[in-house]
Amino acid sequence: MRRHLRFALSGLTGNLSGKPVLRYAVILLPLIFSLAFWFGGGTALIGIGFGVTLAFVLAGHFPGAAPSGATDAGSVQDRLIFMLDKALQDADRTGQSTACLVLRMDQATRFGDLNGPAVLADVLARTADRFVGALREGDVVVRLPGGGFGLGLRPGRRLDVETMIQLAARVQAAVSAGISVNAVTHHITFSAGFCLGARAPGQSGESLLAAADLAAREAMVHGPGAIRAYTADLALRQGNRMALSDALSDALENGEIRPYFQPQISTDTGSISGFEALVRWHHADRGVLLPGDFLPMIDAAGLSERLVEGMLFHSLTALIAWDKAGIRVPSVGINFSTADLSNPKLVEKLMWELDRFNLAPERLSVEILETVVADTDNDISVRNIAALADLGCGIDLDDFGTGNASIASIRRFDVRRIKIDRSFVTHVDTDRGQQRMISALVSLADRLGLDTLAEGVETGGEHAMLAQLGCRHVQGFGIARPMPFEDTLAWISAHDAARITLPRIGNRAAGG
Ligand code: C2E
Ligand code: CA
Ligand code: CA
Repeated sequence: MRRHLRFALSGLTGNLSGKPVLRYAVILLPLIFSLAFWFGGGTALIGIGFGVTLAFVLAGHFPGAAPSGATDAGSVQDRLIFMLDKALQDADRTGQSTACLVLRMDQATRFGDLNGPAVLADVLARTADRFVGALREGDVVVRLPGGGFGLGLRPGRRLDVETMIQLAARVQAAVSAGISVNAVTHHITFSAGFCLGARAPGQSGESLLAAADLAAREAMVHGPGAIRAYTADLALRQGNRMALSDALSDALENGEIRPYFQPQISTDTGSISGFEALVRWHHADRGVLLPGDFLPMIDAAGLSERLVEGMLFHSLTALIAWDKAGIRVPSVGINFSTADLSNPKLVEKLMWELDRFNLAPERLSVEILETVVADTDNDISVRNIAALADLGCGIDLDDFGTGNASIASIRRFDVRRIKIDRSFVTHVDTDRGQQRMISALVSLADRLGLDTLAEGVETGGEHAMLAQLGCRHVQGFGIARPMPFEDTLAWISAHDAARITLPRIGNRAAGG
């Protein structure tokens, strides 16, 4: 209650403090009207009434304009809480409910890292205008600490979940065309969370805002651009997520998170050209978990760098072990995410590890998604990829054919090999369309002097056809599934033994 009072007073003096005449007018209003009536009667009273109203309008203090715009974060948040508090208190009497919507920018930290804090601030300022434009009169928009926006909705009779989802989508759409700053258009998205007034865990503006924010943070996990409503179990789930993040950190520490290795072989000779390291979590209760189950959480928990360190450590350890066993494995491929590549210390760390293991950089292949290379705005990534290539690590373009890397960017990054995506490989032995695609990709690579590897090769027929079409390496369940390091030794011996007894699988001369 103290908060409301303080706010109400500061609002009044705040509005009027810049206009001393008006402030005195307010204080002296009763006296002015009494004197007018005493000396001039009804006519004077009407005249004074008009005069005072006109003075207020000219001074810009007329109520009921468009939605109040977002200004800076901090105490403005109180303005929203005040408005929500009042709406909640009045709900019983008026039968009108309110709701709070919170929007948080997806990957705001990353955006700030890439474009700098000034551009982020500009983008957020313009976003505020767009949000205000998407709302109705009487709605309140404020900036929240941490780059979010809190929206309080003017009480209305028909605020239900469906309306809120539509509203959230409308507000999200207000930035979908992109926001231009200094002639560059930035495509950003916001995840949205909301809580209906009646659902707020404590019936106060503060708890309504906190509930909507919790929902927004949940939306961010499922984003970009997701929408979530507050539910009572959200807080519990987010608590679980914190516990999970602790568990992830422990798992990275004690080696529960480590790679499986999947072989890549030459279509020409059948020899092993490398292994790809694919992360697995050996969970004590849940068994072996796939990257899709936990990579997003590693990202969200800010543990990506630790993951890279772990994958690098286990992969280099494996190389040393194969060397010691007298097995020739030319290289191990490690997957680097966009976030990994944005780390300015990546190359230094990698050099340090290679040095520590006394391994040549050629023994490490760097798998980078084609989509990452296609988007070359990030200076640090560009520098990192170039430095890795200079160092002698082979750059493999992952999921090739699914992104939009230009030929210029492929050349610019000194790519060694393209990994043709599984979508072009499936049924290549029977599907003429697939064959044409593979032929086109292989001849493109040949012209550019790039090596080729086909991913997701599941059958002997696909393998043979890929060899005929001139693809130089293959990887997939048809050759071997990813396996723990311990199993690689037996697999390699079996593979070598079979290679000696089996006829060589097709080569380029056999193709058409
Ligand atoms: P990716 O780099 O494209 O890896 C190939 C994925 O296809 C792997 O899935 C592999 O198990 C699977 N695969 C291999 N052969 C076949 C096949 O014949 N048929 C089918 N259907 N699938 C096949 P996985 O291990 O679940 O990894 C999924 C993705 O997770 C990887 O896709 C990669 O993008 C990412 N990933 C894996 N490990 C790491 C890591 O250490 N760091 C990062 N940043 N990403 C990783
Ligand atoms: Ca890969
Ligand atoms: Ca791939």
